[in-house]
Amino acid sequence: MTDWNKRTKAVHAGVRRSQYNEVSEAIYLTQGFVYDTAEDAEARFQKAGDDEFIYARYGNPTVAMFEDRIAALEGAEDGFATASGMAAVNGALTSMLKAGDHVVSSRALFGSCLYILEEVLTRFGVEVTFVDGTDLDQWAAAIRADTQAVFFESVSNPTLQVIDVKAVSALAHAVGATVIVDNVFATPVFSDAIAQGADVVVYSATKHIDGQGRALGGIILGTQEFIRGTVEPYMKHTGGSMSPFTAWMMLKGLETIDLRVRAQARSAQEIATALQGHKALKNVIYPGLSDHPQYELTKAQMGAGGTVLSIDCGTQARAFEVLNALEIIIISNNLGDAKSIATHPATTTHQRLPDAQKEMLGITPGLIRLSIGLEDPQDLLGDLMQALG
Ligand SMILES: *Cc1c(COP(=O)(O)O)cnc(C)c1O
Repeated sequence: MTDWNKRTKAVHAGVRRSQYNEVSEAIYLTQGFVYDTAEDAEARFQKAGDDEFIYARYGNPTVAMFEDRIAALEGAEDGFATASGMAAVNGALTSMLKAGDHVVSSRALFGSCLYILEEVLTRFGVEVTFVDGTDLDQWAAAIRADTQAVFFESVSNPTLQVIDVKAVSALAHAVGATVIVDNVFATPVFSDAIAQGADVVVYSATKHIDGQGRALGGIILGTQEFIRGTVEPYMKHTGGSMSPFTAWMMLKGLETIDLRVRAQARSAQEIATALQGHKALKNVIYPGLSDHPQYELTKAQMGAGGTVLSIDCGTQARAFEVLNALEIIIISNNLGDAKSIATHPATTTHQRLPDAQKEMLGITPGLIRLSIGLEDPQDLLGDLMQALG
């Protein structure tokens, strides 16, 4: 299996068949498992074997299939599936950190990620230093001999700054720090983060992995030692595990993720290119456009610009006018969905940031984030053009 290409892994990796040899993965909708004898129960609690389960909070066959499939796809040794993307971000960080530890993080983060680093970790005595993630000098200055972990979104939400996984990992590894990458915008299709140096990759499966807006989910990927030795004990006792039904939906999502994400990224590139220079827009931000500050890095790191672009309409009033005029693209706050979605980050996903921080991060009042879906790109462009007009 290790020499299969990603598309093959996305369809076949991790399959566990029951005695019925079903084609579609079975949903083991059970909280627990029966032991033949009291001795068997004792033995399993002492040490569960590879395909032995105890309680769904610890693990479940359908969830294990999803963990193995996405780990294979990402080139990670192992994974732990979580109830949401935020349970994954929190689990990856909190399971490995303790009071007195030092973390360096990029500043351009999704609001809830920022909350964990700024409000939760610091409450328990973890020191966090924030840097401009695109500035390697700032990383080099902030990472210290006693830094335990670095954290960043490889492509930031919603301003689409791209961070150099290889270069930041090299700086972190020089002091033995663990590199944790929130890789949502890169998607498992365009990511090569583990090969590029990341130790731990975290996804919100709610986004492209489900891709159809049905369920929350997340995954923490890393070495077997990190996942089973550090993450699993924390997650299984604190309760953020994925449900078997969700794992089944995510397995089905992975089967089509390559086709969906490549089509969405092609449409995003087409739409961003067509909107460039539009007189009603102050700015079009898309990592696949040659005027993006990290265009060369994006090509080398991901090979494509991804499925999300951002446009700046100038003012909040103007952004709201455009949003309210859209006929196909819906106003919501998910991304990576089959349905194209427009979001006004300043008043929704990033509302809790103080104005000064919004300004520093480029979350301007006129900014709209566009997650491009699976509709015909010409219809989407037509919708945007009529709304802008
Ligand atoms: C959505 C998102 C999350 C959180 O995921 P949920 O599944 O909503 O908990 C974390 N990081 C990034 C970059 C996201 O876009």
